[in-house]
Amino acid sequence: MSQQTHAFRAEVSEVLKLVIHSLYSHKEIFLRELISNASDALDKLRFKAITDKELLGDDPTLEIRIHLDKEAKTLRIEDTGIGMTEAELVEGLGTIAHSGSRRFLEQMAASATSNDGKKDLNLIGQFGVGFYSAYLVADRVEVVTRGAGAEAPAFRWASEAKDSFTLEPAEKAKRGTEITLHLKGGEEEYLDPWAIKELVTRYSDYVAYPIKLDGEQINQAKAPWQRPKGEITDEQYEELYKHLTHDFEPPLARTHFRVEGGQDLVGLLYIPKHPPFDLHDPRRPRGVRLFVKRVFVMDDCEEIVPQWLRFVRGLVDSDDLPLNVSRELLQDSRVLEAIRKQVTKKTLDLLAEIAKDRPEDYLTFWKAFGGVLKEGLALGDPEHKTRLAELLRFESSKSAGEAGKDAPVVSLAEYFARMPLKQPAIYYLQGESRRALEGSPYLEALHAHGYEVLFMTDAVDAWAAEGLGEYQGKKLVSAMRADLKIEEPDAAKKEESSKIEASLKPLCERVQKVLAAKVKEVKLSERLVDSPACLSLGVGATPPMIEKILRERGKAPPAPKRVFEINPKHALIQCLGKMARSTPEQPRLDEWIELLYEQALLTEGAAVEDPNRFARQVASLLTEVARMAAGT
Ligand code: ADP
Ligand code: MG
Repeated sequence: MSQQTHAFRAEVSEVLKLVIHSLYSHKEIFLRELISNASDALDKLRFKAITDKELLGDDPTLEIRIHLDKEAKTLRIEDTGIGMTEAELVEGLGTIAHSGSRRFLEQMAASATSNDGKKDLNLIGQFGVGFYSAYLVADRVEVVTRGAGAEAPAFRWASEAKDSFTLEPAEKAKRGTEITLHLKGGEEEYLDPWAIKELVTRYSDYVAYPIKLDGEQINQAKAPWQRPKGEITDEQYEELYKHLTHDFEPPLARTHFRVEGGQDLVGLLYIPKHPPFDLHDPRRPRGVRLFVKRVFVMDDCEEIVPQWLRFVRGLVDSDDLPLNVSRELLQDSRVLEAIRKQVTKKTLDLLAEIAKDRPEDYLTFWKAFGGVLKEGLALGDPEHKTRLAELLRFESSKSAGEAGKDAPVVSLAEYFARMPLKQPAIYYLQGESRRALEGSPYLEALHAHGYEVLFMTDAVDAWAAEGLGEYQGKKLVSAMRADLKIEEPDAAKKEESSKIEASLKPLCERVQKVLAAKVKEVKLSERLVDSPACLSLGVGATPPMIEKILRERGKAPPAPKRVFEINPKHALIQCLGKMARSTPEQPRLDEWIELLYEQALLTEGAAVEDPNRFARQVASLLTEVARMAAGT
């Protein structure tokens, strides 16, 4: 095979252009990117060699070497890692399928549509773009690589970052990859050993393999997570995070812990600042890296992180798993179970700590990942219920925000602390948005008593509230329930209400007849103050939010038969009551009852069944009233 020229995919040229134009003030990141790739390649080889000793051949050395050549103006980075096959070269360096550059493009796309362009450019400076960052300082890059194993052939890849790269067979005595950067004019500082040493210490200290500069080792070459906490700087924790996640921003928080006695492991877990754009995509790989006795074993090991903590990133290094652990083996390992327990506990500890000491940061977390965390309650994980309850935050009827800002949120603890003594339960209301809930008739009586109502506007809340059940011995009760007992009526009130009941009996019977197909029961409401009517949930009925979700997923819920509550104190109900008693033959009575029902549907966030008919009825009613007002 002779030399072949391949065109870059269009996106690659795009990335190359962006890299060169937007990162010019952070050129030095190229070194950490190339070292990071070398470290990954060594990780992969070390893991494969556990089951296939042949791969190491007669040279078990795992290291990274840097050579500086002042004469030729080249910087070379060499590793003794897994190497690349021809196909991997084309795929890895000729497309952007791999994570580093892909994230870069996504970020650029996001910032192009954002209105805060300045801040974004700043962010990009901290961002890893992978292999192509070599072109920040070089105008020509050559890669010579040979896979591990006796028979593996070697190849040379070369490109000047225009539209194409060349590929040809090469000679290489040993496995691994050698990347030569022909530095651009003006980049001579990267030929200075002191500058390189400084950059390696600053950016690449997480690397667990020796990094040798012209033969001399310049790093500690010890997995940083195995070092005592006090010996690691914030910056080093951050670099390791970026290496693990390809995130371009520092994490929100971290916890670094060692567990000893029985199960020995070290964990280093991070909470990102922002959710990835595909947080809710179930196919997205997630989880933390698994190491066994310092050896990298697996990316995104889901088995050691519960589903509802899937935003947690980082690594766990276990001393108790066998090195040749496979996915299948992972499925039923008791060691794994123990690891998951620790990961869960330490994450909850960390979240509780942020909530207590850094409330602003906690809100950032909550906005990004609160919805995922609540799945822990929805899944009915009883073990962690109490701890999760303390981490919940909701908007509420008493947390009105300023216009244009996010409304403040309350914790259950705050809610509980300011509850009036006589309040029998913790109330919540589910709906699409704060705005849809604020004016809701379901709140009227609770308001009148000074009771606070939590607003649950997240789809998962419906299940989370059920899952939680109670807090500090107080039941969580939906304000939509028909059996909502806000207070016990006294004797005088009871007598008065039985009188009203008698006088409205004909109306109730009429409503029951007109709405027979739609509601289960008609009842005089004790909760309504300003609204004429509302629909509430009978015992065991499915809440409307859940009904809606079921319908969206193509599962037809049972026909909703609600309790229809009418407000005996409302003038409209009193008028209709009078009509039902004295002029039951009035032809429009049934129509008005229907309208009453439909507007109750609207206030609970549901759609009216026949919007056209509804609009016609309202129009004709308005005409009638307008005629009366105009005296025509
Ligand atoms: P990422 O590291 O995020 O995958 P990069 O652009 O840094 O993206 O690297 C692209 C791909 O090229 C890597 O995924 C890997 O397959 C391959 N690669 C790069 N450098 C090396 C190396 N030193 N040894 C083996 N493979 C490498
Ligand atoms: Mg990389």
